[in-house]
Amino acid sequence: MPTPQFSEVADTGDRLAGIQPTLTRRGILGAGIALSLNATGAGGTSPRLDNELTPNSTPDEVLSFLYAGNERFAKGEPLARNRNIERVRQVAKEQKPFAAFLGCADSRVPIEILFDQGFGDLFVTRIAGNVASSENVGSLEFGTLVLGAKVLFVLGHTNCGAVAATIQAKEVPGLISGLFQYIRPAAKEAKGDLAKAVELNVRNQAIALAESSPVIAQLIREKRLVIAGGVYDLSTGKVVPIDLTVESH
Ligand SMILES: [Zn+2]
Repeated sequence: MPTPQFSEVADTGDRLAGIQPTLTRRGILGAGIALSLNATGAGGTSPRLDNELTPNSTPDEVLSFLYAGNERFAKGEPLARNRNIERVRQVAKEQKPFAAFLGCADSRVPIEILFDQGFGDLFVTRIAGNVASSENVGSLEFGTLVLGAKVLFVLGHTNCGAVAATIQAKEVPGLISGLFQYIRPAAKEAKGDLAKAVELNVRNQAIALAESSPVIAQLIREKRLVIAGGVYDLSTGKVVPIDLTVESH
């Protein structure tokens, strides 16, 4: 399964010229990686992890590790590691999450569970519509630059209410409509197709993360971080990778 990801960051245009001079639109991805899904074995009922992470694991290896966890989960064979009181005590003094997430607040998308991870593994920010608002960007800078997460994953999901509401563009109470501004470009481009809008929104938020944060852009340039995107299917439990390629104009 190819896993699209940013190998470099998108062209940031004139706005950031001079700050991120080496970024090119061509640099955005395409370079699929071979995923090692050995953890799920050949139909075995007791999957073992033979792609265990180490401090030297590359961002691509971390991404493979995540997808292997989702495979276990979706097959109904989660290991549910790192979810006991021993692990709680082990990570009480220090956290070293290997991946950071921007996910939706939807109650059906619990990120640690669907990637079959536990305490101390993932640095997760969740907000309706998985939008890269400035507070989330700040949190994710902390998770990557300070805590060392090697993958920054934007996770949308099928049938997302925030994306659907943006497409419908009806009056909504309170501050809910404040989310719409982030999702509107995807909603427009998808011309009312919710599934397409969800995919485009993942792509747009991933690009926004890379473009709005020189910190994140720098980590990507130094190959200490990859940005990846996917859509979680509410009915199958599977995360489908999203191509983050941006077409040149
Ligand atoms: Zn949602």
